[in-house]
Amino acid sequence: MLFKTHVVFGFLVALFGVSYFHPDNQILFAFITVFASALPDIDHPNSVVGRKFRPVSFLFEHRGFFHSFFAIALFTFLTYGLSGSVLYSSAFLIGYASHILADAITDAGIMPFHPILKFRLKGFFRTGAAYEYILLVFLVCFVLIKVFYL
Ligand SMILES: [Zn+2]
Repeated sequence: MLFKTHVVFGFLVALFGVSYFHPDNQILFAFITVFASALPDIDHPNSVVGRKFRPVSFLFEHRGFFHSFFAIALFTFLTYGLSGSVLYSSAFLIGYASHILADAITDAGIMPFHPILKFRLKGFFRTGAAYEYILLVFLVCFVLIKVFYL
């Protein structure tokens, strides 16, 4: 999916995360979740994040390790190691997982057990298709409803 779709979906997930976890610093919690929701595309040389870290996209296959369950576990664990906070590593976890979940319904899919298994989990959704913009509008509406009514 596109960067903007991941970020808006990540923000929606962050809003639900804030409601569920009740962090003292809601802005930091949401920032970590949204940051994590964009991070997996660091493995794509032309993505917003990947352009800033080209060596990563050179070394790693797009939608390979960085889009696997192992990456979710590893980076959540690293976040816990750096922050010492279950709360903020949970913020990271839900954001990163939101990206993997969203990419799993695309026709390119993800390889959840990469590099051990090349099994690909995929759906029908084509990244950048017109209907992705419809989904984006729907997500923005859902964010607004969550902010003002839920
Ligand atoms: Zn991705």
